Amino acid sequence: MSTDPAIFRAVRPPLPLIVSSPSGAGKTTLTSRLRQAIPSIRFSVSHTTRRPRPAEEDGREYHFVDRRRFEELIAAGEFLEWAEVHGNLYGTSRRELEAAQGLRGIIFDIDHQGARQIKCAEPDAVGIFILPPNMATLLERLRGRASEDEDTVQRRFRVARQEIAHYGMFDYVLVNDDIDEATEQLVSIFRAEECRRRRAARLAEELLSEGRDLTRTAH
Ligand code: ADP
Ligand code: 5GP
Repeated sequence: MSTDPAIFRAVRPPLPLIVSSPSGAGKTTLTSRLRQAIPSIRFSVSHTTRRPRPAEEDGREYHFVDRRRFEELIAAGEFLEWAEVHGNLYGTSRRELEAAQGLRGIIFDIDHQGARQIKCAEPDAVGIFILPPNMATLLERLRGRASEDEDTVQRRFRVARQEIAHYGMFDYVLVNDDIDEATEQLVSIFRAEECRRRRAARLAEELLSEGRDLTRTAH
């Protein structure tokens, strides 16, 4: 059997990666760097009722919808998970997971409520929590993003402690101080998780059965 990556992908489903953090800790920055390092990873584009930020594009960062449309999608059972975060609704469509078939992974940038629901639907999902090096830096980064007014920044900063309190449900905790080091850690986690024994079991069993058939024909 060849070791063509396409064959590995055919027998290994995409690795679901949940990435959570308090707002401003660096999820967007780090996950986009992970995708630059490993292009065959899909970013799950959520639906949200929050307004787009100036640089955001519908269908790229989020599918921006109003509350009525969001509620219709909930009623239609379209979401793998959904939750209310910072006063807005956010949800992951089931289609995102389907669209990742054949790829190496899929990133869910979601909060702890969504992480819990995805872990239930996809027990193999790997949870990564990102921490800022300290709270002053977090506030600085929230302000530095310059896409929200001071009230929104303060609201997100207040909620940060509640979000950090959920770090215990994640498999990995990564401190985003130096961006290059944090990126390297995230890429390493992905690569190591890809090699988990349970993810290779199907391939190993197929090799065993192929080996058995070849042994028979060789006699
Ligand atoms: P999140 O997606 O978690 O809300 P972002 O990725 O948008 O956070 O990061 C918030 C701000 O902090 C952005 O302006 C980003 O450029 C900056 N930032 C992220 N990581 C670092 C880092 N390690 N050092 C300095 N600035 C960072
Ligand atoms: P932001 O408005 O800064 O893009 O995201 C705010 C918070 O909502 C972040 O913690 C982000 O991870 C979370 N979030 C984004 N999409 C989803 C989603 O589909 N489901 C859930 N549960 N949370 C989400």
